[in-house]
Amino acid sequence: MAIDNEQLTIDNEGAVDDAAALSEQGDDGFLLDIRNLVVKFHTDDGVVHAVNGLDLSLKPGETLGLVGETGAGKTTSALAIMGLIDCPPGRLHSGEIIYKDRDLMKIKEDEYLHIRGREISMIFQDPMTALNPIMTVVDQISEVIENHQKVSAKEAEARAIEMLNIVRIPAERAKEYPHQFSGGMRQRVVIAIALACNPSLLIADEPTTALDVTIQAQVLRMMKDLRSKFNTSMIMITHDFGIVAETCDHVAIMYAGEIVESGTLKDIFKSAAHPYTIGLFNAIPNLEKDIEFLYQIEGLMPDPMDLPDGCPFSPRCAYAEEMCHTQKPEKLALPGEGHMVKCHIHAGQLATKEIGGREAAI
Ligand code: SF4
Repeated sequence: MAIDNEQLTIDNEGAVDDAAALSEQGDDGFLLDIRNLVVKFHTDDGVVHAVNGLDLSLKPGETLGLVGETGAGKTTSALAIMGLIDCPPGRLHSGEIIYKDRDLMKIKEDEYLHIRGREISMIFQDPMTALNPIMTVVDQISEVIENHQKVSAKEAEARAIEMLNIVRIPAERAKEYPHQFSGGMRQRVVIAIALACNPSLLIADEPTTALDVTIQAQVLRMMKDLRSKFNTSMIMITHDFGIVAETCDHVAIMYAGEIVESGTLKDIFKSAAHPYTIGLFNAIPNLEKDIEFLYQIEGLMPDPMDLPDGCPFSPRCAYAEEMCHTQKPEKLALPGEGHMVKCHIHAGQLATKEIGGREAAI
């Protein structure tokens, strides 16, 4: 199982340097620092273990790619940051979400109303469901500005038109409704709403999945430009390594509600260490190789109501040995800037010495 990710170009090196450092950050230098977050949903059928000890951090100006299959817990983690987990059935059981030295898990809903939309914004996957179908686009942007900034309705509208201009929607179309726009334009309106109050943190949840390929590229380019223009830190949720290569400077691989590997873009793309990460890279089609079938990781993500003991990836892992099924791997630091992996191989606890067709980085 050789890792072959050369077909992906990393053209984002130095992206952190592009963004000027933000003044507001926690004492530890992080804008956002999530520690051991546990989110469960208590349903009539049982408890859904959606997020299981998530650790994630983001410095001002950084873009973090949160990568994983459907059901890994990416969106639930984002909704937890936004304070949008419906309770019941959802519950944030434990952990901390430290944003600029404040634990968001301890603040009241009225405080969250000041943070959501102004400090932290989110771009949802489907722009049609994110927008209000019976409001003009200019009114939807103005509403956010009026809610968070002390400006008159007239000033808010002028600012909204300015935002439409920034996302390249002509002012003449400001009084139109969402259904009168194409998918790409609707997503640009959503981006304008998200950036209208110049948030410190933008969470983009698969923002281009609902768009066709050519529009995807335009929207991504625009998001990258705007991120630099507004000095916004970003969490890019995606299952597409092409998007990660294009936009991110750090990457966290999520599986069954936890981060199994994280590091800089370069560390993950050039020295992927976890068998799941390597499997994801191997599943990317390579135009230079003539193959009959695409590689796939056998099996499915475990049922979050019935997670395996030990390593969550053990039922699908080609390297699993007995201890993988009983003992949970701990975080292990690898060479590189903050490169971390959770796998017994790298702790030297398995007989396996080869991983991904090369010597394991033990
Ligand atoms: Fe595979 Fe074991 Fe590593 Fe889990 S701990 S990824 S099962 S080798």
